[in-house]
Amino acid sequence: MNYVLEQNLHFYRGRIALNAILVGLGIGNGDEVITQAFTCVAVPESIIAAGALPVYVDIKKNGFNMDADDLVSKITSKTKAIIVQHTYGIPADMDRIMDIANEINIPIIEDCCHTFDSMYKGKKVGTFGVASFYSYEWGKPLVLGVGGSAFINDEKLYKIIVSNYTSYNGPSRLKVLRIIAQYFGYKLLYKPAFYWKLKTLFHFLSSLKIAEGNYYDSSSKNQKILADYNLKMSNYHKKLLSSKFTKMKKNKNVSQNIAINYFRLITSEKVVHPNINSAIKEIVLIRYPLITNNKSEILIKAKKQKIEISDWYMT
Ligand SMILES: *Cc1c(COP(=O)(O)O)cnc(C)c1O
Repeated sequence: MNYVLEQNLHFYRGRIALNAILVGLGIGNGDEVITQAFTCVAVPESIIAAGALPVYVDIKKNGFNMDADDLVSKITSKTKAIIVQHTYGIPADMDRIMDIANEINIPIIEDCCHTFDSMYKGKKVGTFGVASFYSYEWGKPLVLGVGGSAFINDEKLYKIIVSNYTSYNGPSRLKVLRIIAQYFGYKLLYKPAFYWKLKTLFHFLSSLKIAEGNYYDSSSKNQKILADYNLKMSNYHKKLLSSKFTKMKKNKNVSQNIAINYFRLITSEKVVHPNINSAIKEIVLIRYPLITNNKSEILIKAKKQKIEISDWYMT
């Protein structure tokens, strides 16, 4: 069994898993937590929900992950953790980042929401820091609808989080049913021919609050957000998680072959490929990223030709 499943620390969302790690580390009011700026809004939301302040580090030029030099410049006496994201499944510069963090004894939390299986120099991402977290939202490597897990790589921290976990509640029956209904809708309809219609529909339904959307409306009340931060994964979804894990493993090679083909076949001068060809056997991507000066033009053209391209992150 995979170590993430073994620990059985599953939450209602990935951001709640992250929050459980931050709280377990004793992080709260007045503390600073470093994250890369090019990230999912869930990450700063989770830091703020812990009472701490997110501090943003830039990504590398022509890359997608944390710039170690900028990281050094953002560390203060209030820094209590560094969240290292392996964006799109591309491992961050762990050698340098670990050195920086170890020297000043600041814990590293790995954001593995984009990959379970990528390796950095022969070692799996998610096993470098004191903890890592995962998400099972739409568009992630393993989809449950919503959901997330924490993996704790430190014995003392593990004991604290396991003990805190007992005070988390299961989501309401309505929430669970909503996710199940959406999930089956997704399985039924998530086919290339339906992609664009479905995408529009999903955004429409989540704006009406019928679907369990990705993000909270920024105008919604803080209390409502905080209430969800005490939720664990439903038992139904815990069972579904282990059965889907095996399937995800089988898709690993498919995903790698697609990446190799994109690398070979996309030859436009308007885009730059990620610098991963030498490590392509070691990494499992969730998305194949392209760098361009003309994001909107490419998105419009892709939509016209019904080519599925996503645009995260916009924030
Ligand atoms: C999806 C995602 C998360 C957290 O997602 P949840 O919606 O809270 O499950 C965190 N970090 C990154 C990079 C993500 O893509």
